Amino acid sequence: MAKLSRNCSFCGRPESQVNFMIMGQGGVQICNDCALQASEIVKENGSKKFKVDSLHKDSVPKPIEIKQYLDQYVIGQDEAKKFLSVAVYNHYKRLLQEDTKDDVEIEKSNIIMVGSTGTGKTLLARTIAKKLHVPFAIVDATVLTEAGYVGEDIESILTRLLQVADYNVLEAERGIVFIDEIDKIARKSDNPSITRDVSGEGVQQGLLKLLEGAVVNVPPQGGRKHPDQKMIAVNTQNILFICGGAFDGIEKKIASRLNTRVVGYNAAKDNEQIDKSNLLQYIAPQDLKSFGLIPEIIGRLPILTYLEPLDMLALRRILTEPKNSIMKQYSKLFQMDSIKLIFDDDVLDYIVDKAIEFKLGARGLRSITETIIMDKMYEMPSAHAEKLVISLEYAQSKLEKANINRLKIA
Ligand code: ADP
Repeated sequence: MAKLSRNCSFCGRPESQVNFMIMGQGGVQICNDCALQASEIVKENGSKKFKVDSLHKDSVPKPIEIKQYLDQYVIGQDEAKKFLSVAVYNHYKRLLQEDTKDDVEIEKSNIIMVGSTGTGKTLLARTIAKKLHVPFAIVDATVLTEAGYVGEDIESILTRLLQVADYNVLEAERGIVFIDEIDKIARKSDNPSITRDVSGEGVQQGLLKLLEGAVVNVPPQGGRKHPDQKMIAVNTQNILFICGGAFDGIEKKIASRLNTRVVGYNAAKDNEQIDKSNLLQYIAPQDLKSFGLIPEIIGRLPILTYLEPLDMLALRRILTEPKNSIMKQYSKLFQMDSIKLIFDDDVLDYIVDKAIEFKLGARGLRSITETIIMDKMYEMPSAHAEKLVISLEYAQSKLEKANINRLKIA
């Protein structure tokens, strides 16, 4: 057998000149320095997951496929899912468009989704991100303020996208940004002169530039821009923006618009058709304006869609149906201790009833379930049992003792 070489197979240095060697099969070895360098190379190349030319028409998922994918994780919200699927598909098409002779250039259609908190806006955005071949960033509008005030510059939205794209500018320029809580930058008052509105209209003006398509200097680490910081220029022309917000109280604006409209001839007929329990379905751009978005922003978000309120049936489905539903997650936790977890059916109904009673919505389902099985999660791993059945009596006893206010914060 050949004598093992005592030198690094990569740089050739002997063992005495390096900290340590990692041995491989067949006598090869690598020194700590070369191993580190190799790891850097792997990181650099491995992270090029979005290749500018890797997008082919055949590999682009069709709207129906995208929706079917969303269906596996998000219950209901068919309208929003359809709008999103089409928008993402068209976004791909725009990226794939070649210079055609007909001078037709497909422009982007940014989206705005309106729906009460906890109805699945962020979940939709996160789920669609998993299916995409382009960088996707989720940012929160609440932290944004006008330059010079406490908060973050509007450009920091693009920092997130750059980070997701591993600072590959070309890739970031074809990405999608989900701006959550867009309603929080609504104008606070109808009279702009009362006080300075640093997190409202000023931010909207800044955002407008991004939505319209401009070359923006982005601070690579986010936060505030400062004079000697190196900036990265990002063109937002092809970046798709999806905005989401709860727009609390917008129903009143919708109702008053509908009422004004129905006064007059035809009023009786129109009135009959209005479903007062779900006014969001009638949302129109002018309602966003009454809420405090500036018309220019609304004009740059041409696709307006809404999310349905989640009723009892939807909440019941959310507990068990999605691919990583709450119930599936707890089952898996117990399964890892070889315990089969069973919730009696009436317990599931009870959890839903309580989520509605305490006005916790879908977010409450997890905190209620957690409260019910907390003690069991503590005891069972040491109990050597094969099965755990949660009965209605047990669930009731646990929840009655719980502090409801704590559930509400969750
Ligand atoms: P929003 O962004 O509208 O405030 P989220 O998407 O963050 O609400 O929803 C909060 C949680 O509630 C999600 O993580 C998910 O567990 C659950 N949820 C809400 N809506 C749905 C839905 N339509 N389908 C499945 N789960 C949902």
